[in-house]
Amino acid sequence: MENSYEALSLILDSITEHIVVIDGNGIIQYTNKSWSEFGDSNACAISDDWRGVNYIEECDKASVMGDDFGIQAKKGILSVISKEAPFFYFEYPCHSIDEKRWFTMRVTALKMSNRDYFVISHQNITERKLAEEEVRNLARLDGLTDIPNRRTFDEFLHNEWRRCLRLNKPICLAIVDLDHFKLLNDHYGHQIGDECLIKIGKLLKKFACRPGDICARYGGEEFALIWADTPLEQAERLSNELLAKIVALGIPNERSPTDDYLTASIGLAMSVPEKDSNERELISLADSMLYRAKESGRNKVELFSHPEALQR
Ligand code: GH3
Ligand code: MG
Ligand code: MG
Repeated sequence: MENSYEALSLILDSITEHIVVIDGNGIIQYTNKSWSEFGDSNACAISDDWRGVNYIEECDKASVMGDDFGIQAKKGILSVISKEAPFFYFEYPCHSIDEKRWFTMRVTALKMSNRDYFVISHQNITERKLAEEEVRNLARLDGLTDIPNRRTFDEFLHNEWRRCLRLNKPICLAIVDLDHFKLLNDHYGHQIGDECLIKIGKLLKKFACRPGDICARYGGEEFALIWADTPLEQAERLSNELLAKIVALGIPNERSPTDDYLTASIGLAMSVPEKDSNERELISLADSMLYRAKESGRNKVELFSHPEALQR
């Protein structure tokens, strides 16, 4: 194969990695075709001719615009230039308006004609990142209802509990248990039962809209909702609205002694986290409220309204 500058240049232009070579001051000496095309398609202001541009200053500009990855990239490049590190590698998001994208950046040293140069290559790893994200989502969500599972719920509650402790804000937990669901299963079949759980999951999503909210499948035919930084009255209103919406779904449960349609009972508890308390107390309070709602007729909300009893 021809061993000429032109041949090597054609080879570098044929690969999909975006490659740029800088000198020890960060000045761009070479870019391959993928690099230029990426610049063009991302409407970079200086994409016409990259040579002579200072790459490190471009990283600085990105960090001024609030891009933390610009800071990391600069640090990494400088660590290779100063020989502190033999190479640098990191993964970063670079989302466009209509597409999620991730890249790797790799910096290696190159000696040519007794001068130091540095090769920076970027590779698109979006496919791998999306696959990883999907695996993470699968682990987070309940397989049947597609809402967060118990593990996600536990983690979320733990974090929100601590956040509310720091902010001295109330946190509410509602445990929602479908009424006489066993009768529904027995009468209409497990398949119909599953479809009901899916419908309830969809409905619950509408009740967890803010960043401090979550709905989850707590287990079997039990669901849970967390409303952080929310006063009890508001959580009570939401809970009653949820019960009404469940009845309005009009899911027949004709064997149920409570109603001809599927209903649910809710145990609701609120707490303002204190230093020596923990979220398990909130769960057990909501649980006992749920028990009370079941005992006192179902299709209702029972709420815990004595915050002082939380203090041990
Ligand atoms: P209560 O009003 O006291 O809560 O009565 P219940 O019948 O809802 O409660 P129980 O605990 O006796 O029964 C729960 C039922 O939920 C029994 C179980 O078969 C059903 N169940 C739990 N998980 C699933 C599921 O994933 N799919 C279906 N179809 N049914 C489920
Ligand atoms: Mg139950
Ligand atoms: Mg039940």
